[in-house]
Amino acid sequence: MSGTALQVDALTRHYGGVRAVNGASFEIPEGSITGLIGPNGAGKTTTFNMIAGAETPTSGRIRFRGQDITGRPTHELFHLGIVRTFQLPQEFARLTALENLMAAAPGQPGESILLNWLAPGRVRAREAEVLERAEESLAFLGLSQVRDIPAGNLSGGQRKLLELGRTMMTDAQLVLLDEPGAGVNPTLMLRIADMIRRLNAERGYTFCIIEHDMDLIAALCDPVIVLAEGRVLTRGAMADIREDPRVIEAYFGGG
Ligand code: ATP
Repeated sequence: MSGTALQVDALTRHYGGVRAVNGASFEIPEGSITGLIGPNGAGKTTTFNMIAGAETPTSGRIRFRGQDITGRPTHELFHLGIVRTFQLPQEFARLTALENLMAAAPGQPGESILLNWLAPGRVRAREAEVLERAEESLAFLGLSQVRDIPAGNLSGGQRKLLELGRTMMTDAQLVLLDEPGAGVNPTLMLRIADMIRRLNAERGYTFCIIEHDMDLIAALCDPVIVLAEGRVLTRGAMADIREDPRVIEAYFGGG
């Protein structure tokens, strides 16, 4: 691990009088699995939205590998390798698991790899390559047996894995995961954690993970950044953060 993948400086996002993010500054080290935690309403999702280009900061700067990306649209960030998943998976419910992965592969502008593949006689080298990559991703995730099942019929955990698979169809560099453990049973949770670790080690993805499950964060993430009231309260190893009185106060102090 070396250098900084993402640098966030004095980031703010205000909605009228609501200061959702209020001067947050932090770094995500290159090659890390960084956790972003904090009580409800701390500003985690709003921060993700700004990093991924879904919302424009009121003020502050975001740099990716030194390049200023503040306020850039999602598609430009995608081409730089910044991709995100959502708390509620965003798959196409009526497409199969395989088709969902193929649909996630970037094509030429105005062209869909999936539609080309579905249209007889239009399968070319690019479609064949994407098909192979989708099959490999399904195998990697242990989803080969649900290849031809519509995504809407998969379990919550399988859909979370499919979201990771969609990431694997892109040239991801920095992956923002929004609650990968939400609504997932403990066995699948272990599998998802293992997949994240392997994607980090084998493919070099840098991860930033929002998660309420502290055991998952403790098992996966270093460093962990704690947000509270739109600012960074502290950052460090989870073992230290768990003992930090300011963090305990932020979570349990009440108001
Ligand atoms: P949770 O853990 O509950 O998902 P969070 O840390 O992700 O919370 P955000 O969703 O970023 O927090 O919200 C931060 C604050 O900003 C909250 O008080 C929220 O109500 C407010 N907020 C977020 N989006 C908007 C919006 N579009 N308009 C007004 N207020 C908003």
